[in-house]
Amino acid sequence: MVERTPPFEPFLEPPLPDDADWRISQGWYYEPELFDLRDHGAIDFAAGRGTEVRAAADGYAVATYEEYLWKDEGSESSGSAKETPTVKQIDGEPIYFGAGLVVQIWHERGRYTQYGHLHSCNEKIPFFAPRVDEEFVHPDKLRVPVTEYPRIACRIRAGERIGTVGMTGMGKGRRTYEDWAAGREYTQYEPNHLHFVVCGRRAPRSRKAETYDPFGIYGTAEQYSGDTKTWPKLLGTLWK
Ligand SMILES: [Zn+2]
Repeated sequence: MVERTPPFEPFLEPPLPDDADWRISQGWYYEPELFDLRDHGAIDFAAGRGTEVRAAADGYAVATYEEYLWKDEGSESSGSAKETPTVKQIDGEPIYFGAGLVVQIWHERGRYTQYGHLHSCNEKIPFFAPRVDEEFVHPDKLRVPVTEYPRIACRIRAGERIGTVGMTGMGKGRRTYEDWAAGREYTQYEPNHLHFVVCGRRAPRSRKAETYDPFGIYGTAEQYSGDTKTWPKLLGTLWK
């Protein structure tokens, strides 16, 4: 396998406490049988609801909410237009998908980390209400220019509590952002986990962010394609 060139020096600490009961439940790519999706673009840490989530590095933090109806992409038949997307369902109910309550921390040099599906959020982190459309709760406040972060966000230190593990943003049944904001529970089908994303700048002048696999940053492909049970140990040695 080709060894990726690390885009930047290691800078992350584990986003969950060492003594918490957690494991990696999903890697950079989804398991083939799950959701028929390939790109996950994140690492999932399964842990109990309420497990403390910590900032992986110093930075500026904001919070928002994301949820949308999950639709089939539609299959491409030769030469003709794509089929109209249909909403996926479980037990006859539409499925919602998204990061839910999500914290984003902007770090130095254009890098940032995201922490999704949180059950709660440190109250000192500014929450920006998302734009709510008919079927889509869009976290447009996350697209604030980097230079504005020190003004709108709160300073956060590596290891500081940013929230707790949950499973917001995913589930089935009819619900709205207002349901969540009012604390109303709804049916879920996903276990509690932290959806952890690492992003960086593609190039100094590019505005487009690119996600990075933490293992790609700190190791070779072989190191994350093996037995997932060994990953937490690997994280401990690579991230410190
Ligand atoms: Zn995930």
